[in-house]
Amino acid sequence: MSDATASKKELQMEELVSLCVRRGFIFQSSEIYGGINGFWDYGPLGVELKNNLKSAWWNRVVRQRDDVEGLDSSIVAHPRTWEASGHVAHFTDPMVDCKKCKRRFRADQLPSGSCPASSKGDSDRNCDFTVPRNFNLMLQTQIGASEDAASAAYLRPETCQSIFTDFRRVKEVARQKIPFGIAQIGKAFRNEINPRNFNFRSREFEQAELEFFVRIEEREEWFAYWLEERLKFHRSLGFKESNLRTRPHAEDELAHYAKAAADVEFLFPFGWQEIEGIHDRGTWDLDRHTEFSGKDLSITDEATKERFVPSVIETSVGIDRTTLALLANGYEEELLANGESRVVMHIAPHLAPYTAAVLPLSKKVAEPAERVVEKLRRNWNVFFDVSGNIGRRYRRQDEIGTPYCLTYDFDSQEDDKVTIRDRDTMEQERVPIDSISMVLNDRLSTDLT
Ligand code: ATP
Repeated sequence: MSDATASKKELQMEELVSLCVRRGFIFQSSEIYGGINGFWDYGPLGVELKNNLKSAWWNRVVRQRDDVEGLDSSIVAHPRTWEASGHVAHFTDPMVDCKKCKRRFRADQLPSGSCPASSKGDSDRNCDFTVPRNFNLMLQTQIGASEDAASAAYLRPETCQSIFTDFRRVKEVARQKIPFGIAQIGKAFRNEINPRNFNFRSREFEQAELEFFVRIEEREEWFAYWLEERLKFHRSLGFKESNLRTRPHAEDELAHYAKAAADVEFLFPFGWQEIEGIHDRGTWDLDRHTEFSGKDLSITDEATKERFVPSVIETSVGIDRTTLALLANGYEEELLANGESRVVMHIAPHLAPYTAAVLPLSKKVAEPAERVVEKLRRNWNVFFDVSGNIGRRYRRQDEIGTPYCLTYDFDSQEDDKVTIRDRDTMEQERVPIDSISMVLNDRLSTDLT
């Protein structure tokens, strides 16, 4: 029977960050040099969680469909790409500098008349802002040995542009017909003026994007389809309904070429924030790349033989923001009936860094327990922990979200069974060693929605 009871408290960001750093999910990049603002490293647990999330997305969006193809394009594209996309001219935020504290802020995020970096009490006296200037958020680099303007290039600020420039090639090689999509997961870079909220707004991050090409007259129904489909995906990750909502963009928020847009938002400890955007981009991208490259990106209608430019529905989700959302959604500090408390990370079992932990009750039974681990590792990521008392070992696994603990005890050698303990209910059951794989498979598939 479960000994979990009611007492739950609201999650503070500091608690989550502290767990992430302490257990090695996510921590500051270049820590030994004092860190580098807006860059984060994923430790042994974080990389597993992030990889599982990316696989869940890739399976659902690419592998389980006939009408979506995958792509992995280069991070640096021909610089004309970013002129065509509008990023060179328009991908800017208004920026001000404080002449007193020498720090830089986004003009549209300043509380009126005060310097956010100044110490309490003298905030009004200390501010001395420059007039706002537009600051381009693309990170620049140089290609080759010379450092002149001709060798300047950009690290992509979004992954989708090469989907448009590769559109014709992918359509041909995959022999696809409209409607179909191209998807990719990859790094993107934005020189954000104020990176903040842990890895929520960073300068290097990963996006998983789908560009779905449709006939212009079908754009509305495909927009509705993908919005619903993406919500189903987020529910399958185990997000609580009360933590998830969609927010349609108002007319004045839309890009000039966009017909409709909606954000999927998650309730973080710092409020409702976007984790994914779904956009109806019309023919804007293919038109612009046709204009700038001189290559015709229109296609032929099989029935009428007329040429047309497909319209695009885009879904763009941040992998880092969603990883943070999974951790915030899962974190819980429970007060147990026996007066103790435990921190438990309710991550959906198919996403958890470790699917199971094998815990021999004593070092004396470590060897046969290790044989169980070897077998299970063919299919799952399994943790093996011999040291410390069993209660403490359970708690360490609860805290990192391991859904199942398998305890090998002195009876195991006699009855060929282990005890399986469920992370969420703490219920324990005795199962034959031969059937552990089956039991795990069963539990993982019922937990998947
Ligand atoms: P925001 O308004 O929060 O800056 P955006 O509307 O510019 O986001 P998009 O350009 O639509 O974001 O990018 C799609 C997704 O990429 C976002 O929903 C988010 O999950 C992710 N993303 C964008 N910028 C960042 C960033 N600086 N750090 C982490 N993830 C980001």
